[in-house]
Formats: sequence, C-alpha cells, structure tokens
Amino acid sequence: MEGIFGLNADQRAILETVRRFAKEEVAPRAAALDANQNPLDCFSWEIIEKSHELGIRTMTLEEKWGGLGIDSLTTAMVVEELGKADLGISVVLAQTFKIAQIMQLALNDEQKQRVLPGFAKDPRGVLAIGMSEPGNGSDKHMSFPVPFATSAERVAGGWRVNGMKHFISNGNRASLYLVMVQTDRKKTMQDGATCFLLERGHPGFTIGRVHDKMGERLANNAELVFQDCFIPDANVVGKLGESGAVFANFSPMSNAYAGASVLGVAVALYDKAVDWAKMRVQGGKPIIEHDGIRAQLAEMHMLIDASRSYIHRAAYLADHRDQGWDATLGVLPKAMASQAAWKIATWCLEIHGGHGYMKEFGVEKLVRDAGAFLHSDGVNRTLFLKAARTLFR
Ligand SMILES: Cc1cc2nc3c(=O)[nH]c(=O)nc-3n(C[C@H](O)[C@H](O)[C@H](O)COP(=O)(O)OP(=O)(O)OC[C@H]3O[C@@H](n4cnc5c(N)ncnc54)[C@H](O)[C@@H]3O)c2cc1C
Repeated sequence: MEGIFGLNADQRAILETVRRFAKEEVAPRAAALDANQNPLDCFSWEIIEKSHELGIRTMTLEEKWGGLGIDSLTTAMVVEELGKADLGISVVLAQTFKIAQIMQLALNDEQKQRVLPGFAKDPRGVLAIGMSEPGNGSDKHMSFPVPFATSAERVAGGWRVNGMKHFISNGNRASLYLVMVQTDRKKTMQDGATCFLLERGHPGFTIGRVHDKMGERLANNAELVFQDCFIPDANVVGKLGESGAVFANFSPMSNAYAGASVLGVAVALYDKAVDWAKMRVQGGKPIIEHDGIRAQLAEMHMLIDASRSYIHRAAYLADHRDQGWDATLGVLPKAMASQAAWKIATWCLEIHGGHGYMKEFGVEKLVRDAGAFLHSDGVNRTLFLKAARTLFR
C-alpha cells in the first residue's frame, strides 16, 4: 500500500519512525483516552511531546528552522500512518504540519524570526487556523458574498478585534494561530478579510468552550473569543483584505492531508474487517470464504487504494503545480476519502454482525471517527459545488 509514487529511502525511514511512534505511543492509549467523558481529558500532551522527541512534530519545518523539510506527498503518507492509529492524533499533527508549511511561505521575515524558532523548540507547539464562525461555515468555501462576523476596527498602530470563531481544531491547545478577521465590513470575506498571526495568551484573545465531539476525540476543538483584542499591524499576514490568498496560494495540500487522516481510519476499519472475516466461522467456514463477504472486502480495498492514489497525486502536484495541478485537486480527494471511509465503516460494522455493535470489539470508535471528515475541512457537498465552479465556470 505504497501509493502511485513508490517510496525513496528517506520516506521509508520517516515512515518507519512514524509507524513505530503510532504503534508504541498512540495505539495503546487511544481507546482509553477516547473513552473519557470530558473532552479535555481526551487530549494527551505526552503523545505530542513524544512526537517532538522523535522529530515528527516539526517534520514540515525546513532544516534551517530545525525540521526535516519534508514535502507534501511524504507528509500525506505520515498523516495516513497516524490516522491508522488514531484520527485525533493525526489531526492534531496534520494541522500543525500544514500550518507550519503555510507560515514558512506566508509570514514575512520578521514574523518568521519572531515565531518559528520558538515553535521549533517547544515540545508542545501545535498550531491552529480560525476561520469558521457560528454564522459562517460553508460560506467561506462557497464564496458567498457575506463578511465574517469577527471583525476589526482600525486603531493607531493596528486593529481592535471583536467576535468569535468556533469548531477550531487545536483551538485550546495551540501556541500560534492564523485567524481570519473582517477588516472591511462593507466588503465580503473574499475581499475584505485579513489573516492575522496570533500568539497564545495575546491580551483580549481567550479560549471559549471546548466542543464535546462524537469522534476524533484525541484532538480538541474550541471557540476562539476576541474581546477588544488589539492586534498590531506587524501581525498582518500577507496583504490587508487578502486572507483568501494566503490559503489559496500556500495551502493547496490541505485537502489531501484531511483525506489522508480519514483514509487512515478507513484502513484500520478494513484491517479489522479482514481479521474478523478470517476468524469468524458461520455456515461451516470462516466468513471470508463466503462470496458476498469476499466481494465486499475487495470493494473496500478498491475504495482505499483509489482514495490513496488521488490523495498522493494531489499532494505531489500541490508541490509541483506546473506539472498539472488543477483546483479540483484542492477539494475532491478529501470528499472521496471521507465517503469511502464512511462506507467502509458501515461495511466493517456489517461484517462484524452484532459483535460490531458491542463496544468491546473496537469498531464503534472507528465508526465515530470515520464520520468526522464528512464535514471537517468543508462539508463534502460544498466541496463538490466548489469543484463544479472550477469545472463549469
Ligand atoms: C471535526 C471538525 C474540525 C474542524 N476544524 C476546523 C478548523 O480547524 N478551523 C476552522 O476554521 N473550521 C473548522 N471546522 C469547521 C468546518 O470547516 C465547518 O464545520 C464546515 O465548513 C461546515 O460549516 P458548518 O458546520 O457551519 O455547516 P453549514 O455551512 O451550516 O452547512 C450545513 C449544510 O448545508 C449545506 N450547505 C451550506 N451552504 C450551501 C450551499 N450554498 N448550497 C448547498 N448546500 C449548502 C452544507 O453542505 C451542509 O450539508 C471543523 C469542523 C469539524 C466538524
């Protein structure tokens, strides 16, 4: 299951380290952390600190900042490996990988010098992006002509920000944030919102509710609250009013990473279904010997293989856009992988019969996790509409 490009020696070594980390540090703790009632207790700094020790947390930072500078294709492979062990851990680190890549491209020199060395050294350094708001979800994907509610007034030397973001992955854990704020309320979020860099603990910026999610529980999601929060001009990322460009130009790989996270869950479900089908005897033989089950497992394999190829192509082309990138690759691989994972989840449940519904067999957590990316990183329907806009302009 290496994907369409095969693996070079560096990728093999990186994936070996990540597999060991996933097997030894993540998988043994995932079920117990997931079972905690309070979402705060589902999060493990120990796991993140271990990922730091192994050089995983900072893998996408360039070597000059203390990382390995891995490319987007290798990162997608890493994200999938993590997702096989636990979706939440995969998301905590995938967000961090992605935002570190964006920061290296989008921050100016002073901003990079200010934040990247600290991020590289901090064993708990994870990153977050704040776009979604209670009243603004899909609109940011659909270019619907409305402003963000989180908005800023011009004041001497900077901006006074009020408002709230919600559902933000790593929201209550991050040390650094990229946040979209409406700086021109007469315009839309496409032409009147600005991207700001924020450090944790910035005055006027606090964490609100931590959401209690049905799955992906080892990652926390939270509200970001701005109350007369002064943000200096020095924290503007890119150009005023062009927050969309920061993401359009510097995060073409984002959708592939989201797809890779949930693909990891699909693989875990498939492996579980195969193991169960080999072991469970009905009709006088292991159920894997019944044609209906065999065909279903083969179809699951196909969905995984095809999703991986799509993700890998998108991740590769995100770094080599002159070789055939098109904008649908920035929205569709996640839609495909999440639909595949959701289908595979129901089939894995079915293949387990009544056992799948009993928590002790471990299918239930994976089913809850498999649902996360039908919405995260954009609801699939809105991503299809976004692709259609590119295809049928
Ligand atoms: C686990 C998780 C992690 C997340 N992490 C982050 C994060 O880190 N940062 C961040 O900013 N956000 C994050 N989000 C928010 C996520 O991006 C939004 O949930 C998503 O964009 C959808 O917005 P919404 O939930 O408000 O749904 P809505 O926009 O209210 O959509 C509801 C339904 O209406 C449909 N719909 C909406 N508009 C249209 C239209 N024009 N035409 C047809 N149908 C339409 C949608 O497809 C959907 O079926 C996260 C969400 C989840 C679940």
